[in-house]
Amino acid sequence: MRAAIFKGPHAIEVGERPDPAIAAPTDAVVRVLLACVCGSDLWYYRGETPHAQGSIGHEFIGVVEEVGADVRGIAVGDLVIAPFKYCDGTCPHCRAGVSSQCVAGGAFGDGKIDGGQGEAVRVPLAGSTLVPVPGTKHSDEMMRSFLALSDVMCTGHHAAVSAGVRSGSVVAVVGDGAVGLCAVLAARRLGAARIVALSRNPARQEVARLFGATDILAERGDAAVEAILELTDGVGVDAALECVGTGQSLATAMGIARPGSVVGVVGVPHAVENPMETVIFRNLGLRGGVAPARTYIPELLDDVLDGRINPGRVFDFETDLDHVADAYKAMDERRAIKALIRMETKEADR
Ligand SMILES: [Zn+2]
Repeated sequence: MRAAIFKGPHAIEVGERPDPAIAAPTDAVVRVLLACVCGSDLWYYRGETPHAQGSIGHEFIGVVEEVGADVRGIAVGDLVIAPFKYCDGTCPHCRAGVSSQCVAGGAFGDGKIDGGQGEAVRVPLAGSTLVPVPGTKHSDEMMRSFLALSDVMCTGHHAAVSAGVRSGSVVAVVGDGAVGLCAVLAARRLGAARIVALSRNPARQEVARLFGATDILAERGDAAVEAILELTDGVGVDAALECVGTGQSLATAMGIARPGSVVGVVGVPHAVENPMETVIFRNLGLRGGVAPARTYIPELLDDVLDGRINPGRVFDFETDLDHVADAYKAMDERRAIKALIRMETKEADR
């Protein structure tokens, strides 16, 4: 089969990988329909986080082609959403809702395990990992929103849940990437009364408004902290959501958080200073981490199917597998919020 291959920083190519096959009775093979590029893939692409050469991509939806003898709840022909990490659903961490830390789990597209950016994927622990989507003949718009549940919407939701966003909350989101925009949508879904989005990019500001941002601020750093304190009568926000991962974005999020609040942190940390002084002297909490997507997908899927949320709107660039390098480039150059990769379907031949 053909798949994106990570060869090193700034080197994504399309090449051949072995056709996925059932190796354990709990495996399934999924033919990929839609995949996408994650902000964390960009860290690899830019050489700022190491990544093994080989398979890449951890966000995809597809159709089940084959199941092992012990797979329950998933059948050949099902349309499925893959959370970006697989899990057994039964270990203590899974049972506590932290499926992203499953003791038997792992990540797709780590160089060895098949990635989402390819024609097909062998999915380990398929019955407890994949989420089947009910119904048939979904619109392309809805399919794009299913794809967003694979990671980006769950990660934005995790920032909001971790920060304790609830009805009436005043929220600020630091970061206008796809995760930040999904955090805006998640905050609105949880009933936030006011949502401040930090962005100076017109295309991203537009999606932020569409997703429920009530205020948009172009300021950054200390100026952003000042502007938000002014907006909140010097109090700060009930929930600051950090969706970037840099030292500056964390400092901003902690600077605008009201004393006693918890900052939702989902950005992959890069060059972040130890925040303990702020945690102690401003009475702040930090909570978040790797989103347990498998735990969140069912409730978010219900909202997508009912049309209450449309997270697929974050995809503003589309290409095919042959041009996967363009998808990375468009995101690297910030020409795209999030790039979708449409696999060539063989439906017409079936
Ligand atoms: Zn587990």
